[in-house]
Formats: sequence, structure tokens, C-alpha cells
Amino acid sequence: MIADAVLAEKWRAARPPMAGVHVDSAACSRQSFAVLDATAQHARHEAEVGGYVAALAAVPALDAGRAAIATLTGLSDVAFTTSAQHSLDLLLGAWTGQRTVACVPGEFGPNLAVMAAHDFGVRALPVDDDGRVRVDDLTSFLRAERPALVHLTGVPSHRGIAQPVRDIARLCDDVGVPLVLDAAQALGQLDCAVGASAVYSTSRKWMAGPRGVGFVAVRPDFAERLARRVPPAEWGVALSVLQSFEYVEANIAARLGFSVALGEHLAAGPEVVRAALVAVGRATRERLDSVAGWRVVEAPEDPTAITTLIPPDGLDPAAVRTALIAEHGVVTTAAEIARAPFELTTPVLRVAPHVDVSAQDLDHVADALLSVSARQTS
Ligand SMILES: *Cc1c(COP(=O)(O)O)cnc(C)c1O
Repeated sequence: MIADAVLAEKWRAARPPMAGVHVDSAACSRQSFAVLDATAQHARHEAEVGGYVAALAAVPALDAGRAAIATLTGLSDVAFTTSAQHSLDLLLGAWTGQRTVACVPGEFGPNLAVMAAHDFGVRALPVDDDGRVRVDDLTSFLRAERPALVHLTGVPSHRGIAQPVRDIARLCDDVGVPLVLDAAQALGQLDCAVGASAVYSTSRKWMAGPRGVGFVAVRPDFAERLARRVPPAEWGVALSVLQSFEYVEANIAARLGFSVALGEHLAAGPEVVRAALVAVGRATRERLDSVAGWRVVEAPEDPTAITTLIPPDGLDPAAVRTALIAEHGVVTTAAEIARAPFELTTPVLRVAPHVDVSAQDLDHVADALLSVSARQTS
């Protein structure tokens, strides 16, 4: 094993055996037996007692899930959503302040689309060559530009760097600009209890919960600057903004499964998991750099488990990804330019193993990449 052997064994034994080699946790991790059982049992309970009766019975388990999110974000006002993107849509839709936001030039393309849909003017935060926020220049930038919000993607989707989230949160607080943290990739990989005004994320990535569920958590002073949209704020309905974010007609089984996955993460120890993922990132980059001319973007020590590879001339990551799955059972992601339209200049192949990856798995990925690259070049 690459990382903590005890953790790796436990993680692997806790879920069904994988078909091939799954190194795609930045897209969708593999769920555990406990998560799968919780979702299946809830669906069955709905058939037995009725969906709304079953939902009532699930309340304590969902509250435990919210408590886990509160622990991981340091924010106790939590709502379940259907995804990270849905969370951002809800937050920006409810924002009552000026519609200006600052984010990094490498911001996730779909987030930029949500900002545009809500008529936000977007400014670029000062960053270094890798796309990390230049903390030393942040305060003067915020004082000069005065964006109403800073939106930060803690770990991007297209590159395995980590933003200095704690420093950024402190500086935003000093200047009085709320920080909204996109923790879709950061949750599990970085400590996200850093004092942000709002944190949102998704279940299926590093938490290894089901698809179709996410959350948003907010600080009370930030919640006060949000207005309920549905039903309209001026209607005298006793429903907080956060409560209004939670669709009644949600997939409760998915929320339950996510709550179980969060409990498993806390039981494993978030610090232990983070350290293991850093070791996984380092080993993956070392093993894959220069294989068949693919070039690793990250530094070995970037503290994430995401490795991105720039293709050699003539190879298309999307076609390589398809062949890796079809011919070698290796599951990766091809990140197209639209994922970070103002930073990516070429599509990349993303390899994102979880804590259970072994040296043999990485050898298998390297051999598969070599074989597919050789054939697609010729
Ligand atoms: C995956 C991802 C999202 C979107 O998450 P969904 O749950 O698919 O809505 C947002 N930001 C980043 C950085 C992501 O990687």
C-alpha cells in the first residue's frame, strides 16, 4: 500500500471489489457496503410504510449527517442540496448584496456559468503561476476592488493544487468580505473548517457517498444577508432561508447514504485521511510522470491526491480515457478546457486514487497508459 496500510485495508474491505482499477475519486468515489445498505434499506422502508413516514423515521440519522458536516466545516447551519453546483445556485440566488464576486482565473467553468446566470460581475483574484491566490496581495486587492463576495474553489477540478484557504478566510474576514468556499474537491483533502462565511460541497467525490446529494453550510452573519426566494421572503411563512434550500421532494435515501459516508469519514479520522491522500498524490505523480511522454502538472508535494497529466503531441485525453476503460479497466477523467476556461490551455487526463490505491494499481495504470498511448500515436 502507498498510504497508511491499516486505513487502506479498511477502506478497500469496506466496499465491493472493483472491476479493474478505479482512480477517479475526484469525479466519483466508490461507496461502502454500509452506505449502499443504508440507501437500499431506506428505499425498502419507503415501500413498507410510505415515503413520508419513512422520511420522519430518518430525521435523527439526517441530523447526525448535518452534525458531521458542521464538524467538517465549522458551521452549524447546514442544508442538504442535490449537488455542489446546486448549492452555489441557491446561495447566489439568495444573496441580497451587490452582485460582484472575485475568484481565481482558474475558476471551475460551471461555477462561472452559475455566476453569470445570476448576473454577477466577476473579477480575477491575484494568483501565482500555478493558479494559487497570492496571499500577500490579497488585502490590497480586496480594498481596491471591493467585491461583495470572494468565491474560492479550495482544490480545483482540473489541477491538484491546494489554495491557502485558511489564510484567505482570515484576510477576507479582516476586510469584511464574505468568503464562499467551494469544497467539492477540498472536502476530505483539505481542512475546510477555516472560518469561511459559507462552505458547500458534494457527496460523491472524496466523501464516497451516493450521487445526487450535496450540502451548503453558512455562518449566522452570512445567513442574515440571504433572502428566501421560494416561497418569496415577504410571504409570512415560518421557514428560514436554509430550510427553504432543502427540497422536501428530495431523494432521502441519498441524504441518508451521504450521512453514513460522513460518519465513516469522521470515524476514520479526517486528519488521517488527509495525510494518506497527500501520500497517494505524491506516489501517483512519481509513478506516472514521463510515462509515454505524459507530463505531470503538479509538484510532488502539492497536498492533494489529484494528478493531472498533459498529453504528448497528438494524443487526446478524452480518447485515451475511453480506451483506458474499455481495454484496461482503468477509470480516469479527461478534463476538457471548459472546466477552467481561463486557465487550461489543453485538455488533461486526471488520475485521482483514494486511500486504498496500491503500488501494483499504479503500475497497472502506468502500463495501460503506455499501451494506449503507443497505439493511439501510431
Ligand atoms: C465537481 C465539482 C463541482 C460541482 O459539483 P457537483 O456536485 O457536480 O455539482 C464544483 N466545483 C468543483 C471544484 C468540482 O470539482
